[in-house]
Parts: sequence; C-alpha cells; structure tokens
Amino acid sequence: MHKAGFINMIGSPNVGKSTLANQLVGDKLSIITSKAQTTRHRILGMVNTDDYQMIFSDLPGIVDPAYRLHKSMMNYIYQSLSDADIFLVVVEAGEKAFKDQTIQDKINSLDIPIVVALNKIDTINQEELDVKIDYWKSQFPKGMVIPVSALEKFNLDSLKNVLLENLPESPAFFPKDQFTDKSERFIVSEKIREQILKVYKKEVPYSSEVVVTDFLREPNIIRVRAEIIVERDSQKGILIGKGGNKLKLIGTNARLELEEFFESKIFLEVFVKVDKNWRDNAQKLKKYGYEN
Ligand code: GDP
Ligand code: MG
Repeated sequence: MHKAGFINMIGSPNVGKSTLANQLVGDKLSIITSKAQTTRHRILGMVNTDDYQMIFSDLPGIVDPAYRLHKSMMNYIYQSLSDADIFLVVVEAGEKAFKDQTIQDKINSLDIPIVVALNKIDTINQEELDVKIDYWKSQFPKGMVIPVSALEKFNLDSLKNVLLENLPESPAFFPKDQFTDKSERFIVSEKIREQILKVYKKEVPYSSEVVVTDFLREPNIIRVRAEIIVERDSQKGILIGKGGNKLKLIGTNARLELEEFFESKIFLEVFVKVDKNWRDNAQKLKKYGYEN
C-alpha cells in the first residue's frame, strides 16, 4: 500500500514553518530569517521513500495585507485550505492565540486531519508546555498537538509518524527523485533574497525582489547572473553600499550558500535595478511570479 499527499503548513509569521519544512525535507529549501514575511511563495518540498511521498507546502505566514504583494501571499494560504490532505498547523511556544479566526474556523470545519506542531518548546519549561498543549488542543479540538523544536530537531520523528498515519493511500504525485516543485533559478533567487534579509533592516528587504537571468551549468562550475529589483533609487544606493561593499557582501554570502546547496563551484554576478513601486502593481507582480 502506497501513501501520498499534501501536507499544508499554516501559521503566523516567524513561528518556524520554514525551519520545520527544511528539517522534515532534509534540505535548506526554504529561506529562514528572524524577520517576518521571509517566505513569499508556496514552496513544495517532498519526502520520498518506496512506501510514501509526503509533500510539504511551506507557505507565507498569515499577514494583514498592506500591499498588493501581501494579498498575493494570502492567496497562497487560501488555496492551501482547499487542497490539503493534512493541515499542519504550526504554532510556537510564545504565541498567545491563532492569528486569524476565519482561517482557524475554516480549518476546524473541514473534514481533513489536523496536526498541530507546537514549535520552539526549547524556549519554555515543562509546566508552561502542559498549559500550552491544553490551550492548543482547545483551539483545534479535532487535532493532535505535537510539541517540537525544529531548531534543535526535537520530536520531529514523532511528528513525521503522526503525519504518516494520517497520509491517505495514493500513488505518488511527483517522480520519486524530485524533492521540490521549484526551479533551480527560484532557489538561487531565494538564497540571494535571504542574504538581503540578513544584511539590511526593514525597508530594503521588503522592497526587494530577485530575478535570475542566467543559470548555466558547465562541467566544473555553475554560472549565475541575477538582478536585485528595488522600488526606488534611494534603495538602490543603500543596497550597493559605500564603494559597493554591501552588494559584495551579499554576493559572497549567497555564493557560499549556493555552493553548499548545489554542491558545485558557483560564479555569481549580481546587479541592482529600480522598478518603481513593483510591490503594488499587478502587472509587475505577475512578471515576478506572483498574482496567483
Ligand atoms: P516562518 O516565518 O514561520 O517560516 O519561520 P522561520 O522558519 O523563518 O523561523 C523564524 C525564526 O524562528 C528564525 O530565527 C528561526 O531560527 C527561529 N526558530 C525556528 N524554529 C525554532 C525552534 O524550534 N526554537 C527556537 N528557539 N527558534 C526557532
Ligand atoms: Mg517561512
């Protein structure tokens, strides 16, 4: 009997969805930073064995839309409510309540198994944990609450086992040698965006998008050319930095990450371009792969 299905991860920003997804899939597929709204797309990551295929959807966190880009991010979440075989609700130890009552009600109303991963339990003690487990059980009565620490890889096997028990009988949806639905170019652009999120404070990362214009595999090296798109000239200046020092730092760090991911030498060129107010323009969002 073969099992396969879509496990859609839903939760607030910063609760550790991407960290958990990467641990479960066993690869640094989704970028992770301490900033909210790091994940903008729906990213599928597969765990394949002879007997099953788990397809994890790492999703953006639930946000109150301020930009058109946020609406597009929320659309990924709404879509994921309708095509899940299992809801993997991710909450964290410090979280007081689920972020969105409508989404919570919807999840509870559907006839789909719910697993609640209570993450970051490395940050609380046993007493606090007991209280938290009771609370989340009351919020998702049909669900099973599994305490985990994605960061410290604690209890992830139990989580995987519970997910496997709930996975429907089905043939595989993707070839077994595939572990993501995303292209190499997408992964490159995310790795560069991750460095932008790490190097700059608020405004620049949220206004940046990365487009990979070349990805060329040669026998001993992969040649990559990428453009960082920002909304304003002032942001371009900040991004490049004095004498280009900031851009250089991003390029170097991204290259090291990419070399690890692709297990290859990488030649990386990064340019900066201005595309006025791309985050609020439907056509531009489409061009950058949003407006789902
Ligand atoms: P997402 O926005 O839900 O995808 O969250 P991320 O996976 O990007 O993680 C947000 C932050 O929480 C990062 O700084 C992670 O290192 C941190 N984090 C994730 N899991 C854990 C955990 O189990 N324990 C602790 N202490 N921090 C965690
Ligand atoms: Mg994320």
